[in-house]
Amino acid sequence: MEEKIRTLTEKLLYYSRKYYVDDAPEISDYTYDQLLRELKALEEQYPQFKQPVSPTDRVGGEALKEFSQVVHTVPMESLQDAFSYEEIRAFDQRVKEVFPDAEYVVEPKIDGLSVSLRYENGVFVEGATRGDGQVGEDVTQNLKTIRDIPLTLPEKIPSLLVRGEVYMPKASFEKLNEERDQEMQPLFANPRNAAAGSLRQLDSKITARRKLRVFIFNLQAAEGFSFETHNRILHEIQRLGFPVTPGFQSFRDIDDVFREIEKLGEKRAELPYEIDGAVIKVNQLAQREKLGRTSKFPKWAIAFKYPPEQKMTKILDIAVNVGRTGVLTPLAVLEPVSVAGSIISRATLHNRDFIREKDIRIGDTVMIQKAGDIIPEVVSVDLKKRPETAEIFEMPNVCPSCGEVVSADSDSPFIRCINSECPAQLMKNIVHYVSKDAMDIDGLGISQIERFISEGLVHTPADLYLLRKENIMNLDRFGEKSAENIIGAIECSKTQNLDRLIYALGIREVGRKAGKILAASFQTMGALVGASSEQLTDIPDIGPVTADYITGYFSNPGNLDLIRRLSEAGVNMTYQVTEQTKIFEGKIFVLTGTLSRYTREEASSLIEARGGKVSGSVSRKTTFVVAGEKSGSKAAKAKDLGISILTEEDFEAMLSKVD
Ligand code: NAD
Repeated sequence: MEEKIRTLTEKLLYYSRKYYVDDAPEISDYTYDQLLRELKALEEQYPQFKQPVSPTDRVGGEALKEFSQVVHTVPMESLQDAFSYEEIRAFDQRVKEVFPDAEYVVEPKIDGLSVSLRYENGVFVEGATRGDGQVGEDVTQNLKTIRDIPLTLPEKIPSLLVRGEVYMPKASFEKLNEERDQEMQPLFANPRNAAAGSLRQLDSKITARRKLRVFIFNLQAAEGFSFETHNRILHEIQRLGFPVTPGFQSFRDIDDVFREIEKLGEKRAELPYEIDGAVIKVNQLAQREKLGRTSKFPKWAIAFKYPPEQKMTKILDIAVNVGRTGVLTPLAVLEPVSVAGSIISRATLHNRDFIREKDIRIGDTVMIQKAGDIIPEVVSVDLKKRPETAEIFEMPNVCPSCGEVVSADSDSPFIRCINSECPAQLMKNIVHYVSKDAMDIDGLGISQIERFISEGLVHTPADLYLLRKENIMNLDRFGEKSAENIIGAIECSKTQNLDRLIYALGIREVGRKAGKILAASFQTMGALVGASSEQLTDIPDIGPVTADYITGYFSNPGNLDLIRRLSEAGVNMTYQVTEQTKIFEGKIFVLTGTLSRYTREEASSLIEARGGKVSGSVSRKTTFVVAGEKSGSKAAKAKDLGISILTEEDFEAMLSKVD
């Protein structure tokens, strides 16, 4: 049993990290919640085997170290959850034992991520994520890009701390994933993860593009703003200009609460945002205070989670998809079935271990579910319905795209095609190379690249630079003008900065940010190619696994040849600091007091060289005030307006930051 508890704990900690820290869940929330309940029951039965770190004791995930941390003055708790009406009835009895006249407010449980917003004298001064409930991430600048969040309030309330849920509307989520699909970037699993990934960005401009919204659902603390009930608070907060959780009402009788939960559940598919449940909260604040809290949850609220919609269907076949990094992913081809408002004809089977554990065979009748996740999953197999003809599926030994023998790691369930000439990978490599965040070659989409590959014009990104207008014009559906545009865009990409090129190579684990860090550290492609594992791991943020992928990539002769050909074609191989300078674009600085290491002129030119502006006076438009020794009224005014004040050290840290 000890082993079972240990494995389950490790599994859940892993899934929890993927969900909260990486914003990339691997299993549905429903499956996660069921596993968590199983662990909780086992821990209660065998307390001696409970692991020192258990997901049953924790709220959320840890704050990312890239953000400054905010210590929550009021802990941001989670909610106890309920999957049945009996559990809600038990909650009602616990409350009514103490307060027979208790009233409840029922609200939709918005599926996004929790934030706290602090206002001082009516000005928005700080916004943070929940993190582990005690310490969250400072995402003030990113929250300022959400139009729903008022930057100033109509009244100068001395201090107000509200809590709400940042979410991505379903329509924005679908559009974002369509764009990501076009650019062959990994898709977000659901609107919640898309919202979390979008808010936790180091560049506020990305957050601004992602169309996030917010609903406020709680008053955490206030000075000069006090009311007796939650209901009234929501009305008052709404009057101040905040969007609040829609449709809140109060009920005394628990059967009316159930009716409201049902009503919300029926509306769920039509709402423009995802909800994953209904929250039932005690209305009177004084009663809440008396009911108190556990270390994880308030005792005055409970969340009813709607079960995911499940449907039975048949597996017609199992297809295998080859990803850009060569991973082979099995996909169940299903008899189409309508689940949670959409027609499902494919479900991921993750990897060979998943297929083995669930004993999934072609011809099986399976239960599938879609619990707010876009990628439906197979929950179980109905063995009674298994036909005699059901076929055991084995992952292929050769790549379905290029026919080369695949490689299987003994310590991982993933199978990979390692042939760098594999057409499936070629195509995805080139699409990645030209994508917006990489070399940004406009006008080259999947269909054009497919065409160039099938015509034998392009095998590697280096071949793009050999294309001539005539090669393209002579293919149907390409006119002279579009050929010229494509050639022009390819030509322009030669001057892209080194960090983009490093990212464009598609080295495993080397994303946009690692590309920047590597470019800033090595300055030239030659230096990066020759870097040893030690040199790489000496760089903060580059761990041993990424270092191995980098050295592995550059030890492959095919990859070295690609770099040589790119260089011969005239693609820039050195890091130009100009790109880094843009980190202050759109930011307005005010300098005040005496800085010990820079004159005013030097500090101004460092800011301007990075795209920022320097102003002589503090106003609402100011982004940062850099306060040196003996700073006076400007720093005081900035404080009043809630503008971030930087010490000289903070300023230096920003200057050396690679965004
Ligand atoms: P929770 O999401 O179940 O409930 C608490 C949260 O609800 C609060 O933080 C709050 O932000 C939010 N909320 C939304 N609307 C609200 C409203 N009207 N009133 C009050 N709160 C409201 O709990 P949690 O601790 O944040 O996370 C647990 C969830 O995360 C579970 O659903 C679990 O399935 C999921 N999870 C999934 C995975 C995975 O791999 N799929 C891993 C870890 C956790």
